[in-house]
Amino acid sequence: MIIHADMDAFYASVEIRERPELSDKPVVVGGSAQGRGVVSAANYVARRFGIRSAMPMAQAIKRCAELVVLPVRMELYAQVSTQIQAIFHRYTPLIETLSLDEAFLDVTRCQRLMGPPAHIAELAKLMVFKASGLQCSVGVSGDKTTAKYAAKLNKPDGMTIIPPWEAEEVLRNVPVIELCGINQGIGAFLAARGVYTCGDMKQLPIGELGRRFGNPGRRIWLMAQGLDPEPVRSCLPAAKSIGHGKVLAPDTRDPAMLRTYLLHMSHRLGERLRANRLVAQQYLFGLRLYRGWLRTIERSLLPCDDEMVIYRLGERWLERGWRGQGIWQLRIVALDPRSPCQDDLFQRKHPRRVRAHRAMDGINARYGAMTLTPARLLGRSSMPDVISPAWKPGGHRKSV
Ligand SMILES: [Mg+2]
Repeated sequence: MIIHADMDAFYASVEIRERPELSDKPVVVGGSAQGRGVVSAANYVARRFGIRSAMPMAQAIKRCAELVVLPVRMELYAQVSTQIQAIFHRYTPLIETLSLDEAFLDVTRCQRLMGPPAHIAELAKLMVFKASGLQCSVGVSGDKTTAKYAAKLNKPDGMTIIPPWEAEEVLRNVPVIELCGINQGIGAFLAARGVYTCGDMKQLPIGELGRRFGNPGRRIWLMAQGLDPEPVRSCLPAAKSIGHGKVLAPDTRDPAMLRTYLLHMSHRLGERLRANRLVAQQYLFGLRLYRGWLRTIERSLLPCDDEMVIYRLGERWLERGWRGQGIWQLRIVALDPRSPCQDDLFQRKHPRRVRAHRAMDGINARYGAMTLTPARLLGRSSMPDVISPAWKPGGHRKSV
């Protein structure tokens, strides 16, 4: 169950909230008052004059002489948008922000806790209004495309529910180009094959769209039938991380070999952190077992970029956490890589270590990875040299 929430005339509504005396006047935000530029947003009074966003400002002014033209204040809108997102987060962590004023909420798994989607949608609308004084329109359905289409149907301050089992029927007579993501180009391709409405889509074999547009093409075919397969992609704060993984020979149990792999991955991770001038303090270590993963997050005392510090964290955990089970894969991820800050000046690693790394990284950059390595990694050539996504049961691909 997906809710699409779309703020009504967002930029204009924020401006009017700041200046309530403008509420019954035609207001646009955008361009410049001298008539250049375009309309970024128009309130509903202005829309009665036929003014739309993306319209040249000169044309908008021609349509309505009393038009109030306000400059864009993006920081303010972003601030309000953040407040509204925070409200949505009370309902579900699965939120995909499309722009400052639009978001998808996946509430499939919230229903037991919060009630049916229509109830959640109504509550969200109310909370948005209470917290920001702004109105939004929501669409509720079983997939993203139908939910987004539904939200447009009753603007402003609307709520439209299209039960998933009715989506195909509701979309049947809707022109395909009204669906979000179907532009004029794709529309022309479809029209040339007799597909104008969503209902026409079934006449076209899905493979024809697939051949021309690949997976997005196949998605379009499904979208038209209210079956958009695209999940809500929640935008948790960009979890930047740097990781390395290694697929091992299946069911590896040799502790010495595991340590060698651990050192190898630590080595590559350290090298990459240094190459990007980053340090990290939290590391995720993961071992893939026959079924599931054995995982831990370990913290180093200080932020670092030193493979030996990373390796020792992993080794200590192996001693504690690994009971000799067969291992299929090993992963190390630096979870919080960031630029070293002033504080780190007091925590600098030993100058000899800095020089050693500089020399080693320089030589490896010039003569190829692993030209200079810890002696324990010299024997690694006897092991399959693979990176995780490339491993196939039939054999190993050489890693880069
Ligand atoms: Mg909007």
